[in-house]
Amino acid sequence: MIILTIDLLKANLAAIERSIDGARAHAPGGQPPRLLIASKYFTVDDMALLDAAGIRLVGENRAEGLEEKWLRWNRSFEFHFIGHLQSRKARQVLPFVSLIHSVESLSLVEELNRRTDMPVKVLLEVNISGEESKYGILPAAAEAFLDRAAAYERVMFTGLMTMAPLVDDPEASRPVFRSLRELRDHLGTIFTGRYELTELSMGMSSDYEVAVEEGATIVRVGSALFSGA
Ligand SMILES: *Cc1c(COP(=O)(O)O)cnc(C)c1O
Repeated sequence: MIILTIDLLKANLAAIERSIDGARAHAPGGQPPRLLIASKYFTVDDMALLDAAGIRLVGENRAEGLEEKWLRWNRSFEFHFIGHLQSRKARQVLPFVSLIHSVESLSLVEELNRRTDMPVKVLLEVNISGEESKYGILPAAAEAFLDRAAAYERVMFTGLMTMAPLVDDPEASRPVFRSLRELRDHLGTIFTGRYELTELSMGMSSDYEVAVEEGATIVRVGSALFSGA
């Protein structure tokens, strides 16, 4: 049960947008980052609130239920996939999303390539902190991974994604975000001509401002929409 009113949602959204604007003053420059709302907090019906608040980009975590949400809401939102994705569920996701943030296995790359005729945009999920509980390729393995992935010609890596460790102090995430940007810059040079690595998907409710300062192009926000609810 959501106890989020449209007025509170709009106020929280406006505050988030102001914070993003503020953080951009300290950012490397370029396009404004896109605000993606994590739709796992909203049922298919409750997504009406997001629509009414003017949100246009949502990210789903689960393959189950994605099609239903997409069928109801694809005229309102662009859908991305942000959760862990097993290869065998790739085809439940592929038709409904314009970007998959969480690619970290070659079997998934292979499956995506097999299931599509058109280019599929994806991000490489990198486990910057090296925590064992986290998904993602270790930074030292990213180049070799992309080298092998490059054989699957319909899968287009357009950047990197990371999940920072959960911490109380957002500043603790800064080195993680900075490392992701530096890795993206490094890989971008190596893979020129094959991949255009422009995207950095990083930052969540607790640390999106720091992520924007470090060059995030997409921030993924959920729980901050509920503050005060
Ligand atoms: C839920 C989720 C988010 C948003 O997290 P909040 O802390 O609620 O802002 C971002 N990214 C992923 C992959 C998520 O699953």
